Amino acid sequence: MHTTDHAKKGSLPGPESHPRGRGEAAIIYPVISRRARGLSLGVNLFPDRKRCTYNCPYCEVRPFSNPDVRISVGAVEAELRAFFAQDWKIYSGQFELKDISVSGNGEPTLSPLLEEALEAAFAVLRDMEGTEPSFARVPVVLITNSTGFLKPTICDMLARFSRKVRLQVWAKLDGGSPAMHRLLSGAEFEYGRIVDAIADFAARVPVTLQTMVCRDSRSGQVLFDAEEYLATLQSLGRKNARIAAIQLYTVARPPAEPWIAGLDDAQMRAIAGRVRAALPGWIEVECFGRTGSLE
Ligand code: SF4
Repeated sequence: MHTTDHAKKGSLPGPESHPRGRGEAAIIYPVISRRARGLSLGVNLFPDRKRCTYNCPYCEVRPFSNPDVRISVGAVEAELRAFFAQDWKIYSGQFELKDISVSGNGEPTLSPLLEEALEAAFAVLRDMEGTEPSFARVPVVLITNSTGFLKPTICDMLARFSRKVRLQVWAKLDGGSPAMHRLLSGAEFEYGRIVDAIADFAARVPVTLQTMVCRDSRSGQVLFDAEEYLATLQSLGRKNARIAAIQLYTVARPPAEPWIAGLDDAQMRAIAGRVRAALPGWIEVECFGRTGSLE
């Protein structure tokens, strides 16, 4: 999940009685998001098992199987409405709703229910605006590993949404070279194709890039090829990609591979400083250490 994903979260336990499922089987999960800086309501389109096009060594989604759990047409809207009717009052005194984020146990653009889930999130927010005026500013965030940008139908659907509602797209860009990208994605997608797909999509819709910075604890090597990564960012700029922000983050939870380790805060700050210095000042570079934002 990238969620659990790409947006690291300190989990906020829900009330014991609520019906929205527990753990990885949940369709709706309230979490404290370091990146969103508040309560982020997650929508998990894969409660039965992880589905992803990548196999990142730092992935925080454990292999699991809930063969009896089904997500069906209408489920996301029903679960969202149930959350706001029953559970929201438990959180609302303490937390501001920052976003509804569609990610979950895998790559959401693989789900046939993605478009419906986005529609449902916007419909529920709109209906809540009467009693919660601040919801008029709450965006829906799609968190993708960027392979969805290889599909024109997905790009067209997201572009259509972004024209009519508050959609944010957060997209993974790990590594600045084919070798580093292969290592960090655990997959064989051609790096140049992924970068081109990000560029094409970001020329239509602004994108926030999420980049993992971690190290191989066996060799001590930091798995971040700064020079090549910065060259990639500059190439995106030349292609008129609109990069809204860059989020650099490190491992905060047990990763899939035991040899992946997080960086300490000083290392993360140094890398963020280097990225910041190389980019135009209007691109915000956010930096997250093992325990939270380093701003
Ligand atoms: S394998 Fe990678 S892209 Fe897929 S869910 Fe895990 S971290 Fe996200």
